Amino acid sequence: MEKYIGSCSCGDIEFCFENDPINTIFCYCKECQALTGSDKWFGLWVPKDNFNFTKGTPSTYSRNGDSGKVVNYQFCGSCSTALCAEITVGNFYSVSATSLKNNKFTPKMSIYTSSAPSWATFPSDVPKFDILPPGMGG
Ligand SMILES: [Zn+2]
Ligand SMILES: [Zn+2]
Repeated sequence: MEKYIGSCSCGDIEFCFENDPINTIFCYCKECQALTGSDKWFGLWVPKDNFNFTKGTPSTYSRNGDSGKVVNYQFCGSCSTALCAEITVGNFYSVSATSLKNNKFTPKMSIYTSSAPSWATFPSDVPKFDILPPGMGG
């Protein structure tokens, strides 16, 4: 079983998860742009059972997602690094790939590309979706 370890910039908060993510995505929605100060969020979708905070307690910011179900963002209250978002409609965390100590993952798809800024860059070798892939819900 693989184990992956990540932390915020200042090191107050650490987390780990086990097994490979069920999906790896570049998300270009407006909220992810605001969160990252960039064109996208690189999220690793990890089932909640496989994810744990191992040091410190993150701060939480909650909003309603497109589905109407709440999204809980977990970030460090000291350095403000966004670590993950709890997607309650799907029962998984979207974990920030850039928080991992050793990120070996690459994106499998680009989502919410219709919200991307004009200067956004997309990986050329993965599928792009205006919102979400058919059947994935919102
Ligand atoms: Zn921190
Ligand atoms: Zn997003």
